[in-house]
Amino acid sequence: MSTHQFQAEVNQLLQLIIHSLYSHREIFLRELVSNASDAIDKLRYLSASDDAYKAIAFDPLIRITFDAASGTLSVEDNGIGMDESDLVENLGTIARSGTRRFLDAMAADKRRDSNLIGQFGVGFYASYMVADTVSVLTRKAGQDSAWLWVSDGKGAYSVEPASRDGHGTTVTLSMNDDGCEYLSRWRLEELIRKYSNHVAFPIHLAYEEEEYDDKGKKSGKKVKKDEQINSAQALWRRQKSELKDQDYVEFYKNIADSDDDPLLWSHTRAEGTVEYTTLFYVPAKAPFDLYYADYKPGVKLYVRRVFITDDDKELLPPYLRFVRGVIDSEDLPLNVSREILQQNRVMNAIRTASVKKILSELKDLAARDKDKYASFVDQFNRPLKEGLYSDYANREALLELIRFKSTAVDGWTSLADYKSRMKDGQKAIWFITGDSEERLRKSPLLEMYRKEGQEVLLCTDEIDELVMPMAGTYGELEFKAVNRAGAEKDISDKKDKETDKDLQPIVDKVKKALGDQVKDVRLSSRLSESPSCIVVDEHDPSIQMAQFMKALGRSADTEVRPILEINGDHPLVAGLASESDEGRIADLAFVLLDQALLVEGAAVKDPADFVARLNRLIAR
Ligand code: ADP
Repeated sequence: MSTHQFQAEVNQLLQLIIHSLYSHREIFLRELVSNASDAIDKLRYLSASDDAYKAIAFDPLIRITFDAASGTLSVEDNGIGMDESDLVENLGTIARSGTRRFLDAMAADKRRDSNLIGQFGVGFYASYMVADTVSVLTRKAGQDSAWLWVSDGKGAYSVEPASRDGHGTTVTLSMNDDGCEYLSRWRLEELIRKYSNHVAFPIHLAYEEEEYDDKGKKSGKKVKKDEQINSAQALWRRQKSELKDQDYVEFYKNIADSDDDPLLWSHTRAEGTVEYTTLFYVPAKAPFDLYYADYKPGVKLYVRRVFITDDDKELLPPYLRFVRGVIDSEDLPLNVSREILQQNRVMNAIRTASVKKILSELKDLAARDKDKYASFVDQFNRPLKEGLYSDYANREALLELIRFKSTAVDGWTSLADYKSRMKDGQKAIWFITGDSEERLRKSPLLEMYRKEGQEVLLCTDEIDELVMPMAGTYGELEFKAVNRAGAEKDISDKKDKETDKDLQPIVDKVKKALGDQVKDVRLSSRLSESPSCIVVDEHDPSIQMAQFMKALGRSADTEVRPILEINGDHPLVAGLASESDEGRIADLAFVLLDQALLVEGAAVKDPADFVARLNRLIAR
């Protein structure tokens, strides 16, 4: 017998599970059954695709046995099984690279959400919520030796040689006080139906029962019972007409390891050149790892009902990574590798059609149920925007689905609604980017548009800086940033040449004072209340974007200088006409520049200098 220590993360995880999930103890069974089902999936796949396993014939079966007298419960499967090194690797360490972050997410999550556990896939350890000791007796398919793993979950485990009839795994729990309630036929049946009804393999419940004679009296003998509890069908292969909403919801909870109902589902069977079935779900809430690079993909691939993979990020484009579900193809080879999948014609056809289908379902939802769609937008607007720059083929559909904040409405608006509110003669769709909606609503850059009653989209997602300049057109309408130089021509072509000439000396003074701090100083006809604003040249990135890039350490070629626009009607600016003191001109010029930067949420170059100049001006 050899004794091993758990990896530090396992200990930490065990602590978290035991202390934060005790109100969800019953999920231990779902997790064990799901592991059993995965193990059978793996063996079915090998026996269908790998010559070395072809000879292994077996009828998939998961059997749950309990014995109230001895206080034990086991979950047995005839799947792939584990050898000694598998045991050490799988049940003593956590392989996923996001472990640390998962632990942090759990610690930070006030709701202590049991969903996180399943999403992260650390289900086996949930057994320690209901058991004092867990033992795993297992034999790997194709091997003669079996192994017994035992641990009380307190830091160490042992592994020793053992014997077992046939391949597969039996996990046995010695229940603690909390676990005893599950040693009941009714309770177990209820849990199997609740969580595992749609597991594709039969789940049997085996137990002993008092025998009754014809007159209903106990005979004193016990009889053994062994009954199938679940429906054991691949739900997605059944006819839509046979299935109720509840069936779909249960199946979702099963494959997404979620306690919430899904927001939406779509079940499609395609026949023709490429044959396949898909069942997709949009969750009600974003998965916790939505913005992690090593997120867990949500779609499982099957080939003719044989499970192939649940870890392929290419099954759907990355921006749809929140979608959960199943793709089952009739035409792919069973031993399809990841590399082949990527360029496979059949897979490409399925992927393309699947994306179209999901987007069109979302479009229907938007038309059918505004509130529900708004809750979708709250969770998933941002990934859809990623699609705008990664999925050109579906750009138009995505533009219809994405929602924006805007100066004209309080909640979300669609582009179609924006368009319907447009004034006659409005030339483009205006947008402004920045990090706070509140600040954007007050930006001086909007004054001109407000005066003309033209609506501006308020884009506050970080990725808007990347996406919006690439959004191109909506129908025949262009998207245009309001912080471009020359944007006033968007509203009117007229310019008061006389005033321009009068004010030119002021512009010259400011320009001289600011030197190379700015690219240019111009008179603005877009401002009414504010004395100044900053804009950028047509092809320069915005100031916020430039500062963002700098923070990422990519500053060298993104040093953009702003263009300062000043409002000749404002007393601060007009007063410069009669000012000749160079120091005071410089103070005012710098304050005009720095305050314009501040309103846009950009950093001023020298805050101490700004404050000093401001104080001198006030003191005067
Ligand atoms: P997950 O199932 O999400 O990977 P678990 O902690 O539940 O996480 O299981 C860890 C690993 O242990 C599994 O990935 C699998 O390799 C192995 N394992 C667990 N249960 C079984 C089983 N019944 N048969 C074969 N392998 C199993």
